[in-house]
Amino acid sequence: MENEIGEIYHLLLNEYGNQGWWPLSRYYSAGALPPTVPTGYHEGDYRPPEGDEDVLEVIVGAILAQNVSWIGVEKAIRAIKRRNGFSMASLRSIPDAEMQDLIYTTRFYREKAKRIRDALDAISSAGLSRLHERPAEGLREFFLSIKGIGRETADSIVLYAFKKPLFVVDAYTRRLFSRLGLVDKSEDYDAIQAFFQGSVARDHETYNEYHALVVAHCVRACKKADPRCGACVLRKRCKY
Ligand code: SF4
Repeated sequence: MENEIGEIYHLLLNEYGNQGWWPLSRYYSAGALPPTVPTGYHEGDYRPPEGDEDVLEVIVGAILAQNVSWIGVEKAIRAIKRRNGFSMASLRSIPDAEMQDLIYTTRFYREKAKRIRDALDAISSAGLSRLHERPAEGLREFFLSIKGIGRETADSIVLYAFKKPLFVVDAYTRRLFSRLGLVDKSEDYDAIQAFFQGSVARDHETYNEYHALVVAHCVRACKKADPRCGACVLRKRCKY
């Protein structure tokens, strides 16, 4: 990456280090419960998710993460794990009402329980192992065909569950790169994604890290209100 998007990536990586996404329950801290700080990261190790249960945990987590902070998701993931883990059979055996109870910390839990059920049914019909053989765009289409799964969630699943390179565009991406003067905040999702995918080589490890670094920067420095520009590693190139 010799362009500006590549330079920004290296500045963020140098500032915050490897982020270790997607957090998985087998790396959760055994500390204070309920957790007050998200855990489960595996910095610099891009092998996870490994195995069907990890993959299904990421898929369920991506659905649960819609419009909610991660700490509520971690509580729900812990609850599902305690119930009987993330095998397909175990997840599909959970009645909808019980799933709603298990995930009530994630807001919109009734809709999300239905989305999880629909996703598990679709994955089960298609065959999880056969889904791994699909190219990134084909996988994206598959998940977009499930009601309630939009582009950000589908791309997160393709990238973090299936380790295939699609660049995830979220509100943080729009905020940061519009402030840097590199994208129009109101531009269509696919146009912004195409911009990044044309600027950064299609590599799942880099895309994994880049999205996580954008989130880290926006949470810690480039906040919606009152960004901390004085200490920002990107301030020299920022148009804000
Ligand atoms: S200088 Fe301020 S607005 Fe610009 S990227 Fe940094 S924190 Fe965000």
